[in-house]
Amino acid sequence: MTLPFESDQLLVGGCWRRAAGGATLPVEDPSTGLEFGRIARADANDVDAAVRAARAAFEGPWGALAAFERGRLLAALGRAVLAHAEQLADLEVRDVGKPASQARADVVALARYLEFYAGAVDKLHGTTIPFLTDYTVYTLREPHGVTGHIVPWNYPMQIVGRSVGAALAAGNAVVVKPAEEASLTTLAFARLATEVGFPAGAINVVPGLGEEAGAALAAHPLVNHLSFTGSVEVGIAVQIAAARHVAPVTLELGGKSPQLVFDDADLDVALPMLVRAGIQNAGQTCSASSRLLVQRGVYDRVVDALAARYRALRAGPAARDLDLGPLVSGAQLARVRRMVTTGLEAGAELLASGEVVADAPPGGHYIAPTLLGGVAPADPLAQEEVFGPVQVVLPFADEDEAVAIANGTRYGLVAGAWTRDAGRQHRLVRRLRAGQVFLNDYGAAGGVELPFGGTGWSGHGREKGFEALYGFTTVKTVAARHR
Ligand code: NAD
Repeated sequence: MTLPFESDQLLVGGCWRRAAGGATLPVEDPSTGLEFGRIARADANDVDAAVRAARAAFEGPWGALAAFERGRLLAALGRAVLAHAEQLADLEVRDVGKPASQARADVVALARYLEFYAGAVDKLHGTTIPFLTDYTVYTLREPHGVTGHIVPWNYPMQIVGRSVGAALAAGNAVVVKPAEEASLTTLAFARLATEVGFPAGAINVVPGLGEEAGAALAAHPLVNHLSFTGSVEVGIAVQIAAARHVAPVTLELGGKSPQLVFDDADLDVALPMLVRAGIQNAGQTCSASSRLLVQRGVYDRVVDALAARYRALRAGPAARDLDLGPLVSGAQLARVRRMVTTGLEAGAELLASGEVVADAPPGGHYIAPTLLGGVAPADPLAQEEVFGPVQVVLPFADEDEAVAIANGTRYGLVAGAWTRDAGRQHRLVRRLRAGQVFLNDYGAAGGVELPFGGTGWSGHGREKGFEALYGFTTVKTVAARHR
């Protein structure tokens, strides 16, 4: 991949071209607030062309490949990603405002997804089913056909890796709608895919506005499966649009994920992870742990230690690789500030905050990481996703109260528990309402092998690991009678 590439082009049927209407959108550097490029603004015509190109690839050269051949292409793409790690990370630093080390970690995760699915592609078996003696019955796992992928701005490379990687491995042809705030690494990924030899139309990318390109993709009748990551509100709209042509949908809608700290927790291990799980990527993480539930016996000690850690945190330009970069946009900054201000006015207590470095460019979207107490479990700050570097600390008396608070939101994405009591660990695993539960850990370093997804308003369907492959396939049952 040569940089800088022409970022204002989209990819349809193997051709890089401008949007049919010629429109573009600005690319902003969140660290400065300054525009530094343009991306294409695809409209419904571009989306239609992309979906038809994907269908043609699925029925043509892409669909004709053997599983192991798809695996080889995915493996080659993984190697190309690693070979361009610095360029990809630099793009993400500028486009999303990610601190450089976090951007580099995202590149590695993208490559890991491609490696995982490259290896898994020819291990996706059907089953044989014992039935009447004069039958042979088996199942085939078949791709849906064309899959649509609507991607948010917070982890473009990871989310493209986990959803597009799995969809391609399963044999689907894909149309990707990256977020308007963060399309560059998806475009670069697609350029690499073209260079390593993916057939035309297997991967199509249509950047643009959500209500325009995204809505057109969700509503397109030739899209056979939709994978959406983002807000609850848009997720519902996507599911409704997909329902009109009866397409299955995977929704990953974020959360209000708790970590439960019991009196017997190993606090030396827990404390750094409690904080990191809240401020990583400036809190713009669907699985961010935004609620810290702490048992009363250690509450004061934990709050003091958390506050000390918060006071040492620094936010600043992404390229400086501090604890936090800026938020992705002015709109996101305004939203986070509003939620914190409203909470403080309603009686929340500011326990501690970090700092924004003094020489941060004034146009950047910076906010100091903020630790809050004095919040009741039913308050908005303990119920709604802030999507910024804000954690609330809530005390609890015993296991029952901890579980009631933990399960007391409409979300159910991730939960963590810190306790050395093995019996309690196993009880909690069953009682906590979440798609992933971590014991004496949080996040497991992203683990591409680990199925991920939510319950309740966090969404449905699973990404990552083998579960994603099942989601991107449909089962055909074959009954052959011996006559
Ligand atoms: P969003 O849901 O508006 O956008 C996510 C993706 O959906 C983007 O690609 C966007 O272009 C697209 N989209 C928007 N409107 C659409 C529509 N009508 N039809 C189809 N696609 C559409 O999210 P946002 O505005 O980027 O962020 C708002 C809030 O969403 C955040 O503050 C956060 O709470 C949440 N969020 C969650 C995640 C997550 O990982 N779960 C990621 C991003 C945002």
